[in-house]
Amino acid sequence: MSNTLKQTPKPLWKCGKCGGELKRGTVKASYLGNDFEVEELKCLNCGLVLIDEELALGKMFEVEQSLEDK
Ligand SMILES: [Zn+2]
Repeated sequence: MSNTLKQTPKPLWKCGKCGGELKRGTVKASYLGNDFEVEELKCLNCGLVLIDEELALGKMFEVEQSLEDK
């Protein structure tokens, strides 16, 4: 391959497990008995979900906060 550093028009995410195409979608997660939905990348081929830790942890933090208010 003669890959010079050219700009990729669209960064395509690939599954680290099978190399399949990843697509954004809503994924249900559960934390401390609370269900919430996060938008994550999911592999169309094997179903692997790529969790964005920062986003997921932020959501969990929100859940913890709301629990403390009760
Ligand atoms: Zn995959």
